[in-house]
Amino acid sequence: MATKAKAPAAAKDGPATDKPPQATDGAKADPEPTHKGVARPGEGQAEMSNLDIVRFYFDRAVERLGLPDDVATVFWSSYREVTVQIPVKLSDGKVHTFSGYRIQHNGARGPYKGGIRFHPEVDIDEVRALASLMTWKTAVANVPFGGAKGGVNCPAADLERSEVQAITRSFMDKIEKILGPTRDIPAPDVNTNAQVMAWMMDEYGKLHGHTPAIVTGKPIPLEGSYGREAATGRGCVYMFREAAPQIGLTPAETTFAVQGYGNVGSWAARIMQQLGAKMVGASDASGAIRSDAGIDADNLAAHIKDGGKLTEFPGSEVISPDDLLAIECDVLIPAALGGMIHEGNADRINCKMIIEGANSPTTPHADQILHDNGVHVIPDVMANVGGVVCSYFEWVQNMQHFRWSEREVNDKLGGIMRKAYRDVSGRAKEEKVSLRDAAYLVGIERVVEASRARGYI
Ligand code: NAD
Repeated sequence: MATKAKAPAAAKDGPATDKPPQATDGAKADPEPTHKGVARPGEGQAEMSNLDIVRFYFDRAVERLGLPDDVATVFWSSYREVTVQIPVKLSDGKVHTFSGYRIQHNGARGPYKGGIRFHPEVDIDEVRALASLMTWKTAVANVPFGGAKGGVNCPAADLERSEVQAITRSFMDKIEKILGPTRDIPAPDVNTNAQVMAWMMDEYGKLHGHTPAIVTGKPIPLEGSYGREAATGRGCVYMFREAAPQIGLTPAETTFAVQGYGNVGSWAARIMQQLGAKMVGASDASGAIRSDAGIDADNLAAHIKDGGKLTEFPGSEVISPDDLLAIECDVLIPAALGGMIHEGNADRINCKMIIEGANSPTTPHADQILHDNGVHVIPDVMANVGGVVCSYFEWVQNMQHFRWSEREVNDKLGGIMRKAYRDVSGRAKEEKVSLRDAAYLVGIERVVEASRARGYI
């Protein structure tokens, strides 16, 4: 596998100070040492980094909450950032050196929690953004975790299974010192799955003994939780069910399109279909398809699982990825990567509701356009918390070495998702703000409260 990996940065560890962390691995340094330094989207600016997006919403909420600058600065940067070098010999016989990151943003409400992403575009700023988003998400869901995220800049989708295993084990060896079932518990994200979590647990176990609660999203035979694989997609559908009556949608008459037919997207589609909704478009990294007659969500998932390309799914028409966003439908579910709905394409979106399965799929500029166009947006910070909620259930089961039925898991997930929707929509009504702004207000407030109670601030 002839992949050119970025030169790694020197490893660093230890608690961060109140100064912003120094960028490594070619990442741009943060503009200023306080939360006031965040770049705001300017006139004509279509693209923002994930970090800019999260910090933009954070800043806006901080202003509304009237949080003093010195306090806001604590949450503006991460508590601890670890960068490691991962040299691995791949099947081309060469040693490829990847960079791995584990970033713990805030742990006031409990152990750090957040996924591990394997993608060539992973960099320290993206991981910082996703780690802070996890802090607000766990708080919005009201599960007793803080926020973290990890990633390796490897092209996992193009690597052999043995190569992904070698990278996973090497990464775990290097970050295990800052992990632990009561410290920091990773989970799957883009290009990582139950198998990757099994390797991580196994590697950790070599040093610490069998510790299933060290990661969540594990396979069922290794104390994984029933319902975890589908949980993020299922959570998106619980959000749809809460919001649908408010905009006059009934599930059986709803049409939807999915951008990113991976774990989150395909499960959301399959569960929407169980309610009677019809999928009229879907995409993944290989391209996009549409069919007004409907694309069977189960058959498409099986087709991809069997090694078929999404664009070769029988009975559908191949379209350009941007045209997917323009399909006329009731609900659009972005479930791929960050920043995919931006100023350049937001105006083409032709749906009534967006449920953000992905993290940071919408830039603030695009968010404004969608708002002006009357689209009801259920933001990432509440829409995709189903995964971390079910990870919490898995962790609870692992700590007790006990197992709940799938029905029990799904029922409990529904209860938490409904509560999160009601908490946030109630706040949105009260303050006359969007669901996104309200979710940040609720999340930040809970983290500040916990930090004060601990005496951190
Ligand atoms: P995944 O790797 O299973 O799926 C990602 C999908 O996106 C793949 O089908 C991939 O082909 C597709 N994709 C990549 N680039 C694309 C592009 N340019 N256009 C269209 N599709 C593209 O990952 P996942 O776990 O489903 O995660 C998807 C998103 O959901 C990410 O933003 C992730 O952070 C977020 N998320 C995941 C979880 C979880 O539990 N897995 C939880 C919360 C949020």
